[in-house]
This record gives sequence, structure tokens and C-alpha cells, in this order.
Amino acid sequence: MNRDGENESLWQFTMPEYVPKHAHLPTTPIDVVVVGGGITGLATALALQKGGKKCALLESHNIGFGTTGGTTAHLNTFFDTTYAQVADRFGAESAKLLLQAAEQALALIKGNIDTYQIDCEFEYKDAYLFAQNDDEIRQLEDLTDGAERAGLQMPYTGQLPVTLSFERAAVVSNQAQFHPAKYIYGLAKAFEEAGGVLLQHCMVQSFEEKELIELQTALGSLKTKQLIWATHIPSGINVFSFRCAPYRSYAIAVQVAPQQYPKALVYDLQDPYHYYRTQIVNGEPYLIFGGEDHKTGHDEHAADHFTNLEAYLRQYFDVQQVCFRWSSQYFEPTDGLAYIGHMPGHSENVFVATGFGGNGMTYSHIAANLFSDVILKGRSQYSEVFNPARLKPVTGFSNFIKENADVVKEFIGKRMSVQKIGSLAAIAKGEGRVVSYEGETVALYRNMNDELHAIDPVCKHAGCIVQWNNAEKTWDCPCHGARYSIEGTLLTGPATKDLEVVKLKE
Ligand SMILES: Cc1cc2nc3c(=O)[nH]c(=O)nc-3n(C[C@H](O)[C@H](O)[C@H](O)COP(=O)(O)OP(=O)(O)OC[C@H]3O[C@@H](n4cnc5c(N)ncnc54)[C@H](O)[C@@H]3O)c2cc1C
Repeated sequence: MNRDGENESLWQFTMPEYVPKHAHLPTTPIDVVVVGGGITGLATALALQKGGKKCALLESHNIGFGTTGGTTAHLNTFFDTTYAQVADRFGAESAKLLLQAAEQALALIKGNIDTYQIDCEFEYKDAYLFAQNDDEIRQLEDLTDGAERAGLQMPYTGQLPVTLSFERAAVVSNQAQFHPAKYIYGLAKAFEEAGGVLLQHCMVQSFEEKELIELQTALGSLKTKQLIWATHIPSGINVFSFRCAPYRSYAIAVQVAPQQYPKALVYDLQDPYHYYRTQIVNGEPYLIFGGEDHKTGHDEHAADHFTNLEAYLRQYFDVQQVCFRWSSQYFEPTDGLAYIGHMPGHSENVFVATGFGGNGMTYSHIAANLFSDVILKGRSQYSEVFNPARLKPVTGFSNFIKENADVVKEFIGKRMSVQKIGSLAAIAKGEGRVVSYEGETVALYRNMNDELHAIDPVCKHAGCIVQWNNAEKTWDCPCHGARYSIEGTLLTGPATKDLEVVKLKE
């Protein structure tokens, strides 16, 4: 299973290539096209196909290629945006609905695993959150009060399943974990067995709404009655370019002394926070430790975050071996809640699910439930809460200004301040940099054989200058999160085209 970065995640390890049954687009119109073969697209396509719709799922690379292949797969009924914040911004009823939607999402995951006999190491776990100073204690109190008002019990506890010092801790039961790649392979198989058409290497390039929706894809054209964008961020320039900010997050999977593997999910309250959990893969235990989040393209030393994670962990654990390290991308919604529903600016037959932050395992199945209710039954009780057309002047609105101020700065600033280097030789083997070369700005990468790859660094989405990501060896756009390979091949939307290759003169 390939992923949109150079590092192998724990989930790619020993996962074979998924080979679908079909190789061609259907020639007759179908009911629903789901774009994107991550956890959101697969859970949604399966629910709709089983609900009686004729569905096709189109994935531009392979299933699991996006963030689902680089997640850490905690299944939670609490979110990075706390229930207190949701109640404050959207009202107490919305906080209760969010909890109900999250509990139904976890029930759908468990139901899929049972119904389709998916062997994906699913386990229910308790989750512990802990505070280490006065500020964090106040945060924890606010978090647990808000959760309890929404209906989620988070009692305080005097114990933690890891040997870190803490001032206060709370525990929430009935959370879970699984192997996300094994889970989505199971969904894909069940979808195909139910008659769904799954096509990989089939990027959706554009669509037009006529009597039916007409899609142009890498494998030809296709007509459908309804269209769902489950691509993590929808392709092209649209409202979500301004309502979702791209972030990178880092994880390592290590082996530690046998008694040190935590038997629960554990989170500190630092900013950005760290988390700990254990996963057994092919009989071997791994401690998964993650954090170090930052805005995409805003850190020249991305690979240092792996070193930081390892150094931090070694303070508290007897780390015997670092087996995997990987990073991935998520999209932070400006007001704290995901956008799931009708796509603004289009007819009621076009849908979108985006802005999941670090909670997309749960949000993916909130989306699957919501879309099947709307498409199969005509309505969902959650449509209002996750309405993508909402624009609330809430506290989160200041984030909206801030995130977009960053975007404007990238548009007008970074082009001018491109790092100038004296000679091309200053780029080390295996490194990339945006440089001025004979009066032109180019993105250069020097491979291990000392050969230079040059591409035009102007992102095909909105014209920002891409930045080198030395952790995953990719070119990342700091504005809206489009990402490209060393050769300029598009890895992650919202762009829909590759960067242009620049020919270097001898
Ligand atoms: C390091 C990290 C750890 C995380 N840990 C957790 C966690 O513990 N718990 C949790 O709940 N969430 C977590 N998240 C968030 C969660 O992993 C994501 O929200 C989730 O995987 C998103 O799934 P998705 O299916 O929506 O998107 P993706 O998995 O990104 O899938 C989208 C797919 O769409 C395809 N695509 C894009 N454009 C097109 C197109 N035009 N045509 C066809 N296909 C297209 C892509 O190739 C991709 O495969 C984490 C995120 C990160 C970065």
C-alpha cells in the first residue's frame, strides 16, 4: 500500500497492494459517485451500496494513499475541539448532538467489523487525559465539565497507565483503536462484494452539473445522479480553501521494555499535545507516540520533529528500537467542527466531507451515517450541526482571519523572500530547496546520485510557492496544503495538476 510520503507508516507495513475487481468506468449512469478511497469514502460508499444505491468509488492513487494511511487510529467520542467549546460556539444542543453522532460513528465501525468479519485488531480501550501544571488543570476541568454537560462521563482518576508525572487526570471509557489499513481493506472488499465499483488510479479532474452530473476522470468520463467529495479536502478553489487550514503531524512506533506498553489511550494537554497507545501488528507490540503538529510548509526542518518525539519519549520510556516514523496532514476547520453535507455553490446533489482536524476516524463515520440518512431517507438530524454552508461569527472566526492572513502573506510575501543560495552545490544530496537560478525561481532536489530535479514551484491550486518537506521528501504548499513528489507529481489536493518540470541547462 503506497502513501503520500516517503516514510513507511506502521499501517503500510506488510499491507499488500489492493487489487480491485474492476478496471474500467461503468458505461451507464450510476446513482452515486464517491470520490476518495480513504476511510471516509469507503465507509460512505459501502453504506450507500448496501442501502440500495448503485455506487462507484474513484481514487486517484490507491486506497489508503491519503491521511488514512498515515493516521494513528484512535477512535474517540471526544474531539480536539472540546464539548465546552462546541456548546459555547454552537449551543448546548449542538454539543449533545455531536456526542450522539460520535457514539453512532463508533457503533457503525464496530457494526461493520462484525457484519463483514473484518480482522483489524479492533479493541475497546479507556482513554486518559492528564494535566501537568495549573493551566492544564484548568483546561482539563473545562474539558471534563463540558463533556459531562454534553452527556459524556469523564471522571477524575488517581492513576495513569504510563509512568509520567501528572497533577490531575480524567478517564473516559468505551473508546477504541484498530488497524486502519486492515479496516479499509475490509470495507473495500465488502463494497465490491455488494456490487460497488471501485477504481484506483482514477483521479476526478472536473465535473459539470447538467441533467446528470458529468465527471471527467483519468480513466474517462462518467455520469452520476449524485456526487460526494470524500477527498479530505475538495479539489479546486472553493470556500474550503478559506475555511480549512492544512497542518502536519508526526508519529513514531517504537519497541519499549515489555512492562511499559500502555493498556489504554493516553493524551497530555500540552500545545500541541502528545499521545500514546499500543498496537500489536503481526504479533509484535508497538508503542505509538505522536504530536509536534505545525502548519504545512511553515517549518524548514520538518524531519527534526521525529528527533524531538524520540528524545521526549526516551525521558520516560526505555526505548529499545524506533521501528517506524511517519508524518501526515490534516485540515483544521476554522470554527472547530467538521463540514459534512451539501457542497456550497452547487446543487443539492453534490456533497462534501472535510475539516476533520485530528478526529477523522470518528468524523468519517459521522459522514457515512449523515450521507446515508440524507441520500437514502431524505434527512439527517445532524445536517444543521455540520452544515458546510455555515459561517458563524464565533470565537473561531479570529482563526479564520489568522489562517487567511497566513495565506495572503504566502501569496504576496514568499515569492519575494525566496531563499537565495550562492551556488547549486549548496543543496545536499537528498535535500530540496526553492532557489533563484538564472533569474528564475525553481524548486530543486538533488538525489542521492547527485542529479538535480527541477520543477516550477508555483502551486497549481492558487499560485503560492511550494516549500521543501525534508521529513517526507515532498513539496508542500503552505497556503492550502497541496503536496507534490520530488518530480512534481500531485500527491494531495486541493490542486488537480502536477507541477511543471523545468529543464536545466548544462
Ligand atoms: C498524524 C495523524 C494522526 C491522526 N490520528 C488520528 C486519530 O488517532 N484519530 C482520528 O480520529 N483521526 C486522526 N487523524 C485524522 C484522520 O487520520 C483523518 O482525518 C482521516 O484519515 C481522513 O480520512 P479521509 O478518508 O477523509 O481522507 P484521506 O485518507 O486523505 O483520503 C482521501 C483520498 O482521496 C483521494 N483523492 C484526493 N483527490 C482526489 C481526486 N480528485 N480524485 C480521486 N481521488 C482523490 C486521495 O488520494 C486520498 O486517498 C490523524 C491525522 C494525522 C495527520
